[in-house]
Amino acid sequence: MNQNDCQNVFALLSEYIDRDLPEGTCEELDRHIQDCAPCVEFVESLRKSVALGKKYAPGVEPVPVPDGVREALREAYAKSLAERQK
Ligand SMILES: [Zn+2]
Repeated sequence: MNQNDCQNVFALLSEYIDRDLPEGTCEELDRHIQDCAPCVEFVESLRKSVALGKKYAPGVEPVPVPDGVREALREAYAKSLAERQK
């Protein structure tokens, strides 16, 4: 698995969560994420954050991922990528 794919997933992730991507792109990300444990984890945690945001702001669509969450996830993600390279 190529690390660029992971970075690509990260770059498109908020659109991915909102299913706001062209169908082909979504499928590519799906395919990558299925085979990539760090990405699965990452998507799950982002999804939870987004769900939490929706809970506190019902009826407001779309809910942007808060900057703090994005930063925390970016760090966790970079860490997990570094772990895999050992
Ligand atoms: Zn990945």
